[in-house]
Amino acid sequence: MTSRIGRVVAASAATAVATLGVTVANPAPASAAMTICYNTSQAGSFAGIAGQAASIWNNATTNLTLSANCGSNLRIYQITGGGSYAIRTSLGNGRVYIDTQQAQQYSPLRIMTHEIGHILGLPDNYNGNCSLLMSGGSAGTSCTNPYPSTTEANRVSNLFAGTRAAERAEGSGSAVFRDSWPAVAATVG
Ligand SMILES: [Zn+2]
Repeated sequence: MTSRIGRVVAASAATAVATLGVTVANPAPASAAMTICYNTSQAGSFAGIAGQAASIWNNATTNLTLSANCGSNLRIYQITGGGSYAIRTSLGNGRVYIDTQQAQQYSPLRIMTHEIGHILGLPDNYNGNCSLLMSGGSAGTSCTNPYPSTTEANRVSNLFAGTRAAERAEGSGSAVFRDSWPAVAATVG
């Protein structure tokens, strides 16, 4: 008797819920994370630093994974002179050039994570704030912070999730990012 009433009540409740159009929220469908294969065959002495930068980005973001030795979405080059820069061909694809001379003035790891940040869709933000990765050389040579801020990291995660249409439009296209690291006057003597 009691259990039958229980069932009736439960059934009525279910009907009421259905009538009101209340739906149980489904978890967001799992989207496959994009694997960005980075190639350090031409990174010279910066190959290890590229691996550290990849770990930093992987730890800070979702929806993407930087992985070594699986392809060449991202090629990393060691150069001498001319300045470090990045060429993004599309979101998650491109080339990063690390200038050996610049890496003697600025933190090589900060340069590397910054330039990879461009490949991941971030623009420069030269406001001198060392807590931001994309402030680049504007934060001075004493700034060695290699970590993206939460805002920067979340923006990348959103870009790769495709959930922020406006940012995606801005961050996905091809672009060249130069002059992030102003030359520092050589020490005399
Ligand atoms: Zn830059």
